[in-house]
Amino acid sequence: MAKLQNDDGLVFRVALAVPLYRLFDYLPPESFDSASVKPGVRLEVPFRNSKKIAFLVECVRHSDIDTAKLKRVERILDDKPLLSPKDLALLHWASRYYHHPLGEVFSAAFPVALRQGKAAIIQTEKRYALTEAGRALDSALLKRSPKQQSVLEKFQAQPGSWSETELSAWDGTWRAPVKQLIGKSLVQQVAAEFGKNRTEPVVKNSALQCNPAQQAAIDTVSASLGQFGVFLLEGVTGSGKTEVYMQIIRTVLERGQQVLVLLPEITLTPQLEQRFRQRFTVSIAISHSKLTDRQRAAAWLNMQCGDGAILLGTRSALFTPLKNPGLIILDEEHDASFKQQDGFRFSARDVAVVRGKLLNIPVVLGSATPALETLHNVDKQRYRWLHLPDRAGNASAPRLQLLDIRNKKMQEGLSEALLAEMRLTLAKNEQVLLFLNRRGFAPTLICHGCGWVARCGRCDANLVIHYDEGKLRCHHCAQEQRLLKRCPACKTGELTPLGLGTERVEKVLAALFPDKTIVRLDRDSTQRKGALEDYLQQINEGKVDIILGTQMLAKGHHFANVTLVALLDVDSGLFSIDFHAPEKLAQMIVQVSGRAGREEKPGRVIMQTRQPEHPLLTTLIAEGYNRFAQSALAERKQASLPPFSYQALLRVQALDVAAPPLFLQAVLELAEAHCQSHTQILGPVAAPMARRAGLYRYQLLFQSSRRPELHALLDVLMPQIETLKQAKKVRWSLDVDPVDLY
Ligand code: ADP
Ligand code: ZN
Ligand code: ZN
Repeated sequence: MAKLQNDDGLVFRVALAVPLYRLFDYLPPESFDSASVKPGVRLEVPFRNSKKIAFLVECVRHSDIDTAKLKRVERILDDKPLLSPKDLALLHWASRYYHHPLGEVFSAAFPVALRQGKAAIIQTEKRYALTEAGRALDSALLKRSPKQQSVLEKFQAQPGSWSETELSAWDGTWRAPVKQLIGKSLVQQVAAEFGKNRTEPVVKNSALQCNPAQQAAIDTVSASLGQFGVFLLEGVTGSGKTEVYMQIIRTVLERGQQVLVLLPEITLTPQLEQRFRQRFTVSIAISHSKLTDRQRAAAWLNMQCGDGAILLGTRSALFTPLKNPGLIILDEEHDASFKQQDGFRFSARDVAVVRGKLLNIPVVLGSATPALETLHNVDKQRYRWLHLPDRAGNASAPRLQLLDIRNKKMQEGLSEALLAEMRLTLAKNEQVLLFLNRRGFAPTLICHGCGWVARCGRCDANLVIHYDEGKLRCHHCAQEQRLLKRCPACKTGELTPLGLGTERVEKVLAALFPDKTIVRLDRDSTQRKGALEDYLQQINEGKVDIILGTQMLAKGHHFANVTLVALLDVDSGLFSIDFHAPEKLAQMIVQVSGRAGREEKPGRVIMQTRQPEHPLLTTLIAEGYNRFAQSALAERKQASLPPFSYQALLRVQALDVAAPPLFLQAVLELAEAHCQSHTQILGPVAAPMARRAGLYRYQLLFQSSRRPELHALLDVLMPQIETLKQAKKVRWSLDVDPVDLY
């Protein structure tokens, strides 16, 4: 073992998870194994007055700091890096592209337990499978040992291997009979590593018979395995995208390679996990924020060492190392949840594409309503377009219809015409789904006597009425107070709720349909752990007649018996100042509509509006999402907005109202000195919500028609910003490719 002494003049340059752009130099430990010290290993180092976990970036022979002043690395935690050189390259790229400190980017790639310095010990589980003899044996021959018989039958019913956890979940007393079956050479322990000596088939049951569009998509991606390529699988809701994923995944698994599948929402993982478990025999790891640190570290290490075959996860799972990567799939690629909105603000979709390129594997992006950026990349022939135009099986596309509610009598947001349609649907024992993207009872509490409005003391926002809890609550900060009975301003005026929230609609529904079961799905009603799952189960068991909810309903849930979907208020989405708003509204409308008529019974969608001639609505209904997207892209082009230009937003906030504009003025002066001709700097201006949680907010927008020019500017600017004296009084963050300008 080669021992290097510190007097060799070697310096460890490390990244630390602190919000500073620079790296830090340390002396190596007293003695260490030079062969194992590779970039990416975790180190424990003294930092300020405590210890911190650091990531080795490089070993150098020179430091700008006097080596006598350098502190020494205390411990090397890994005997080899946990990330491959390509994944390390990905993190370096992400740090440069998002102009985010490398240490924080590294930190985001590791699960919390490893970030805190826990040992990367893999608890490999034993796995068991039938032997040739076990497969052939008639289980009736074991009828005198019923436990063994039942274990054998369990194995025989399902080809593939079982892990200890899987067996325990099935029956806590599996150990003794399995041991006895091993004694009889009917069962054997098999290698845990996926792809090694694998003889069992990767799938349990046969796939569905695909329609020609599905088959074409499967064939195209399968022909590109082993090389980089990005595919947009654009398929209307219910077109069978998941079936396409599963058949491609099968081929990847048969090549002995691993698959990473990313979803926007935790609540969608159980549904997909179940479909995957029904189809595949291989081990499936799950990673999302509701799991414990320990479970997430286990899933991460499981993929890293090659035991796991499929990883299903949310945004943060993107960086999970794969020993033998074969494919990345991002489902619902348009979903804003793929963009991290705090700290290291990365787009999991965009980084996934770069990762696919570095790993030289295909990336499949799936959606019924692709992001405009993604469609633009198809237009530019950077991505290949795979199209599933029809619903799979016997389901047909839902019929969309605008319902003009101008001058119509309304009961808490429900028109007579809609109520009549609801009654007809319910009379057929079919389910109705109502969508309103506002939770609470009403968004405003106003005094009928003097016009006083209940405002949040810390935000530029009204307090929302939560009637059932007797509270007024701000949806932008944690502030809440008791629901007032009397106007605090005039003391006499009557306080009136203004506007509609789901809670209010729920009450009128209960009054109008007293013998029907109504379920409300929003963030308030599903707070209890397991509540959403319970509701979804009740809905799917047909115990619910009317489902009412917020955007939670727009996600990929499958409600078999819903035949009428109504959007109670699409108008409020039509007038936002953010240029992303029309795209988001159109996606929401199409996604919610997609919940109608998912099986044999045809579905209908009714949209209540006071803007029945609005081009967004008419295009969407008459010509569909893709046509809408093309015209929205044409508008973006006209206005030189992304994806026809590139943006980065510098957000600033402070307690002191004067500090943010002063800081941004200083940034602006620095920036103008380096700004080239294709780049504009807009601002400083107050943020659309100028005060939030007691902090004053400002922003500066950088926009360029040339991406390299924008990044060259940020490259020089960002390290200087943190040294500005005005920076001490504010908190700031940079958002590259912002998805909202809020
Ligand atoms: P998506 O993910 O596009 O919304 P799914 O994959 O969930 O669609 O498929 C919708 C429904 O259609 C599911 O019940 C699925 O089993 C069924 N399905 C998918 N492909 C086929 C097919 N080729 N033949 C019959 N049914 C299919
Ligand atoms: Zn009043
Ligand atoms: Zn507030």
